[in-house]
Amino acid sequence: MLTFNYRYRIYPDIAQQTVLIEWMEICRGAFNFALREIKDWCDSRKCLVDRCSIEKEYILGSELKFPGEVNQLNSLPRAKKEFPCLSEVPSQVLQQAIKQLHRGWEYFQARGFGFPRFKKYGQFKSLLFPQFKESPVTGYHLKLPKIGAIPINLHRPIPNGFTLKQVRIIRKADRWYASINIQCSLSVPEPMPHGYPIGVDIGLEKFLATSDGTQIKSPKFFKGLQSKLKLLQRRLSRKQKRSHNYEKQRIKVARLHHTIDNTRKDFHFKQAHALCDAGDMVFMEDLDYSVSAKGMFGKHMLDGAFGQFRTIVKYVCWKRGKFFGEVDARGTSQECPNCGGVVKKDLSVRVHNCSHCGYTTDRDVAASQNIRNRGIKIPQGKNQESLIAI
Ligand SMILES: [Zn+2]
Repeated sequence: MLTFNYRYRIYPDIAQQTVLIEWMEICRGAFNFALREIKDWCDSRKCLVDRCSIEKEYILGSELKFPGEVNQLNSLPRAKKEFPCLSEVPSQVLQQAIKQLHRGWEYFQARGFGFPRFKKYGQFKSLLFPQFKESPVTGYHLKLPKIGAIPINLHRPIPNGFTLKQVRIIRKADRWYASINIQCSLSVPEPMPHGYPIGVDIGLEKFLATSDGTQIKSPKFFKGLQSKLKLLQRRLSRKQKRSHNYEKQRIKVARLHHTIDNTRKDFHFKQAHALCDAGDMVFMEDLDYSVSAKGMFGKHMLDGAFGQFRTIVKYVCWKRGKFFGEVDARGTSQECPNCGGVVKKDLSVRVHNCSHCGYTTDRDVAASQNIRNRGIKIPQGKNQESLIAI
């Protein structure tokens, strides 16, 4: 099974935009209501039964079950009678808003942090149309239920043999996009480990270092864009809220965010292709960036959007028939890639200088060589799951 998300720009007219924005607001309402139910349930079970908390009390019957996904979905028809505006949104799209909340809830349960948040005005920015009887893309248009045909720029055709599964309508700044999910039952074998290996270390000081000694700095244009963003945000903060000028300035800020996202993505793709040019197997660390983002380097780590980079490298490797592997990266910076001896060094030491064998190289290059060495040790033909089990 092959699944791709292709993103196309769409051009809804003013009336269609108004309807889409209205639907997002209604979905936002449903999302927040459902989250309120979950929060109340959690709060009501926080304090002990035989005493009162000082500030507030939530009392829900102990027999009341947790407002689960199925429960909340089943109560939608009843809610529609009470709030007729809910019926304006196609019911499957509305259901997706509840499902989205529960995906967030499950994620929170699995990770232990990141409780779903209420969405403020304008924070609900996409609508998912999960099912189509026939392909909604007809030449130059995208056909959506209750909305009709929206002009679409099909800058690349949907490949033959693929069926369209879902469409997500996304609003970014003042632009609209359709992210089209397509699937093909064809299965392509995963690339097997072969050929020349390279290890990649991602860092804060540099964007990346490879085991071949290539070092890529974080591109400078991000700094320029960031300071421009700061300037625009400062101007925005001086505008009267909800005024016409505020709205104009808000769109400027949103557009710049959008530009930064696109520039970064472009940079990531170029780097990923460069890695595939350099070797046949690419190994990266399996460090959970979302966890390290909590630490003191949080901002920088997020700024680099490393998670996205790994996903892109994985994709580009797959597309070009190169092998992508993840290795346990614990201690890669404290080990000598040449003799395997332990070389303790803190963050300020930028050079790896082995006291056992005398091997000297850049700190990050040493780390990437360790990643490569560990990667090659993965038994041939075994994937990541079996590596963890060993
Ligand atoms: Zn050594």
